[in-house]
Amino acid sequence: MELSFPKKPFRTHGGAAVPHRKHTAQIESVVMPAPAEVAIPMQMHVGAPCTPLVKPGDLVTVGQKIGDSKAFVSAPIHASVSGKVKAVKKIQLSSGGYGDAVIIESDGKMEPCPDLKAPEVTDLKSFLQAVHDSGLVGLGGAGFPTHVKLNVPEGKTVDTLIINVAECEPYLTADNREALEDSANVLDGVFTVKKMLKLSRAIIAVEKNKPQVIEKLNGLLAADSRNSDHSVGVLPLKATYPQGAEKVLIKACTDRTVPMGKLPADAGCIVMNVTSVATLAAYLKTGMPLVKKRLTVDGGAVKDPKNVIVPIGTYIRDIMNFVGMKTEPAKLLIGGPMMGMAAPTFDAPVQKQNNGLLFLSEEESHIPEPSACIRCGRCVQGCPMHLMPTRLEEYVKARDVEALQKFDVMDCMECGTCAYNCPAGRPLVQAIRLGKGLVKAGGAKK
Ligand code: SF4
Ligand code: SF4
Repeated sequence: MELSFPKKPFRTHGGAAVPHRKHTAQIESVVMPAPAEVAIPMQMHVGAPCTPLVKPGDLVTVGQKIGDSKAFVSAPIHASVSGKVKAVKKIQLSSGGYGDAVIIESDGKMEPCPDLKAPEVTDLKSFLQAVHDSGLVGLGGAGFPTHVKLNVPEGKTVDTLIINVAECEPYLTADNREALEDSANVLDGVFTVKKMLKLSRAIIAVEKNKPQVIEKLNGLLAADSRNSDHSVGVLPLKATYPQGAEKVLIKACTDRTVPMGKLPADAGCIVMNVTSVATLAAYLKTGMPLVKKRLTVDGGAVKDPKNVIVPIGTYIRDIMNFVGMKTEPAKLLIGGPMMGMAAPTFDAPVQKQNNGLLFLSEEESHIPEPSACIRCGRCVQGCPMHLMPTRLEEYVKARDVEALQKFDVMDCMECGTCAYNCPAGRPLVQAIRLGKGLVKAGGAKK
């Protein structure tokens, strides 16, 4: 069935009017020179960790595969600098946990791997193999292997590709800059995925607070002969949080609802982050896998906020030195202030799925003491998933796993809207995370 392109976004539920603070939206990204050393974790994705393929003393080049796994849900890992493997050891990651990593001493030359070449893509099978080999994972933060996402399960019909350029988190502008600075690859990636998966349309969803992106992509699409049927287009969205959350985005773009506990494919959609689709297009042209990442570096402690393109595995401390701090940061958030996670160390490396480093000042990182719930209902009204956060918090306190399941705690996407809207400052997301842990420990219902 032919699908029309939506004339305007559909209504979504809940959300919060967060301040945008996109200080770096107009600033050209800066490429950081090769650091002296990188630490490349063997798990930067959802699924099975990779096994290191190199040992201390080995010489490596940029794009050379250094980690892989036979598991379907995994993604290979590649050297991001050229140089010598110094060690293969456990290191602390920005999550606070520990994991195996390949430590490479850079020779400063950034020499590309001589074996790299554009993959031969002739059909869906070879396309999915190429996506796998690129090492691509969801770059919006999820880290889900892209070849798994694009492998539509038998029995499901997907007709719509949605490209996520909403970037609704305050501060973050890495996707905004990707869409502006790498627009040709964005569109090449969109047309390739749409063609290979035989999709009817592709909707590039951009929040209205990124007018340059909307204008640029619209201009390119108008002149693109591949779009004579107008099946690829830009859909400007209301700038509200969490517009970029997968299920919210699907509703806004298609008026379809992903059923509780189900995936976008169950609503006939595939959602790809804009940086993911551009990285895929670049890989298909050059064979250079995912080895670098653009990050928004911002926050009250940063001297000159900007987007920085760094080799994956660069230590956060090296980025701090490169960008410059005006004061010692009181807190580091990996990601935005709504969904980002506090990192316990500056000595962890950048991973594939990271898109922002927020170095907060003392003042910004102060969290007021929560007071008692006043039953105002704002957390319920604002929840895009129609959950009842205040009740979930109570069930967590009571360790009532049955009630947590009944009230769909596992469907919480941890967007933080409820906590942001709460006048009592209740730590609702932390409670819900605990609740999910209780359900998992007790065996989640189907
Ligand atoms: S309950 Fe979960 S999904 Fe709903 S607003 Fe809170 S964090 Fe977001
Ligand atoms: S928003 Fe806060 S104070 Fe209001 S009902 Fe929810 S938890 Fe209670």
